[in-house]
Amino acid sequence: MPQNSESESRKLLGRLRTLMAEEAAGQARLDRIVSLTADSMGTEVCSIYLFRDEETLELCATEGLKAEAVHQTRMRLGEGLVGRVARSGKVVNSADAPSEPGFRYMPETGEEIYSSFLGVPIQRLGEKLGVLVVQSKEKREFSDDELYALEVVAMVLAEMTELGIFVGEGAAMKARHQQPVMFRGTTGQEGTAKGHVWLHEPRVVVTNPIAEDPETESQRLNEAVETLRVRVDDMLDGARGGDTEQLQVLEAYRMFANSKGWLRRMEEDIARGLSAEAAVEKEQSSARARMAQVPDAYLRERLHDLDDLSNRLLRILTGQGQETGAEMPEDPILIARNIGPAELLEYDRKLKGIVLQDGSVGSHAAIVARALAIPLVVHAARITDEALNGDVILVDGDQGIAHLRPDDTVIAAFNDKIAMQAEAQQRYASIRDKPATTLSGETITLTMNAGLMADLPSLEGSGAEGVGLFRTELQFLIRNQMPRRTELAALYAHVMKAARGQRVVFRTLDIGSDKVLPYMKPTDEPNPALGWRAIRVGLDKPGVLRMQLQALIRAAAGGPLSVMFPFVAQYEEWRAARAEMDKALERERILGHPLPSRVEVGSMLETPSLAYASKRFFEEVEFLSVGGNDLKQFFFAADRENELVRRRYDTLNLSFLTFLELIVERCAQSNTRLSFCGEDAGRPVEALCLAAIGFRSLSMRPASIGPVKHLLMRSDLNAVKAVIDGARASGEQCVREAVMDYLRSSSN
Ligand code: PEP
Ligand code: MG
Repeated sequence: MPQNSESESRKLLGRLRTLMAEEAAGQARLDRIVSLTADSMGTEVCSIYLFRDEETLELCATEGLKAEAVHQTRMRLGEGLVGRVARSGKVVNSADAPSEPGFRYMPETGEEIYSSFLGVPIQRLGEKLGVLVVQSKEKREFSDDELYALEVVAMVLAEMTELGIFVGEGAAMKARHQQPVMFRGTTGQEGTAKGHVWLHEPRVVVTNPIAEDPETESQRLNEAVETLRVRVDDMLDGARGGDTEQLQVLEAYRMFANSKGWLRRMEEDIARGLSAEAAVEKEQSSARARMAQVPDAYLRERLHDLDDLSNRLLRILTGQGQETGAEMPEDPILIARNIGPAELLEYDRKLKGIVLQDGSVGSHAAIVARALAIPLVVHAARITDEALNGDVILVDGDQGIAHLRPDDTVIAAFNDKIAMQAEAQQRYASIRDKPATTLSGETITLTMNAGLMADLPSLEGSGAEGVGLFRTELQFLIRNQMPRRTELAALYAHVMKAARGQRVVFRTLDIGSDKVLPYMKPTDEPNPALGWRAIRVGLDKPGVLRMQLQALIRAAAGGPLSVMFPFVAQYEEWRAARAEMDKALERERILGHPLPSRVEVGSMLETPSLAYASKRFFEEVEFLSVGGNDLKQFFFAADRENELVRRRYDTLNLSFLTFLELIVERCAQSNTRLSFCGEDAGRPVEALCLAAIGFRSLSMRPASIGPVKHLLMRSDLNAVKAVIDGARASGEQCVREAVMDYLRSSSN
């Protein structure tokens, strides 16, 4: 391509635009693009390779290679130079392609005679769609201007692919966003839901990647950037005096919005023939590529801000997005990359299900989804690329699977599953008001875990006998600023009232590790799970703990109060925390506030060390609650948040069960009330084994109470205990199989 690249690439884009405006079938369009590009770039070959599936690329159109190879030649991701471009997302520019490492020629294409190779990825906002290649016989490296021109063609191709322009009669490729796709993720919250996609951040579709008049486009861009700046300034004004973290983010937004480099790069792209939208998207794509390579988390966050800003700018330019007042579909299923707990709460109970592309099982969004009992799948890779607003989607929270645009057989199977679950729900409803008394005569107290106002209706519906664990930190996590004492007191009073005299065990603030308050300066710790968290923070900086204890005492308003401390690892911590409670009571007495009729103070048992604490500890605590989530992570040294190891060790491993038996034994010796409140308490088989080894109180998410009670009422704990002891005697590592065999045989 001759030097004056700006006008040359504009000419090329102009020709592309004319071509796009013509009526043509999909394949014919692709064919014309390759011949036009080869002609403009002065190369003998131009080819388009598109993904057939995640691992395979297919030659879909070519100028210069043998025509019979089209739709025949395929290569795997990483194979040859084309595969290398596809895998790495990076350009390959070589004067002597056959000498490049990994070069592999496809004899059926006749490409062996070409020496130079320039390949660029076809991608849209980080989503890989294929590879665009030019080749020539002459040995030469392509210039930066030529590379630019090819990248722009690739970008236009990506936009057009999104628009489905190559689909239809003589289709060059499968239609996008029309095929059924199954996403295999991870369970965040069990349950099933059927509904329609509601994208938390709708995809912006750019219908006009190429523009006729750069001046108009530049003006549109400048106006949109101005609107964006005003909006960011407004947001900043609104946020002043509030939360500093949010202010910092907005300051960063403003810095980007005013950045000359950002605007200049986009204007350059417009000068070369792109529309304002396409220029924003091109800049956004390269920011995303940079983002993927930045090792520093802080910088990555800042680039993420830029990504968000580009989205806002695109919405302003295209008039698409949330601000357009699009209506939520019937039975909305929320699809998002990730979502914060407060944003999720804003949707209230409208959502039928949630599928997150990222997210994690322990994230706050997952906690909120659980409180709202909304089926949730996390780690559904690429779902935000595939799903469109209004698409039919089935969420199988039990299996961690989502079926997007399912076919009829999948829908039928899913309907069967929903019907079966409805039947089970009816069964659970019929035992809701009965005690969980086993066949061998033991009655197990089943309470629920809670932490949000959204949990409270479940107190009634689930048959819970009170709240065994109220995670007070959730109220802190969903806010932008530290709640005030009066606010907390009102909230706790509300919870106690909703419990109608049943016991509510309030756990003091358990922050640190995965639970980071948005308005507290994060401490940079090498290993937060083993770091400054929970009661360690509460004792070192007692201000918040004291405020919270005071709020709890006031909320009790002369009634009974149960409080427990999280993450106590040794006697001394318990003693100091208990002393804080005594001091708080004394202070309230002096101030003339009514004291609770009875104060019951206990501790979580979440570190193995505490199981071996002195007798004095077991005698002093009024109750203990085993936090199985943390206890298990420290027992097996396996991070509860890490997908690679999270499921590696079974709760029914006999080492762990034997350890839990020791805790039961120690509590029995000192007559200490004991319960179990980790996630395992809500899994029927695990709950049964816990009851069999002596736990008489289990606290779980409300939806688990029915299934756990149902199994307990049909079981003989002595027999289950015998199975556990038998497995231990015969040297088994884990008792799951033996218990499952027993359950199968006893149900026959
Ligand atoms: C636990 O660790 O088991 C527990 C109940 O506490 P959390 O899950 O809030 O850490
Ligand atoms: Mg814990």
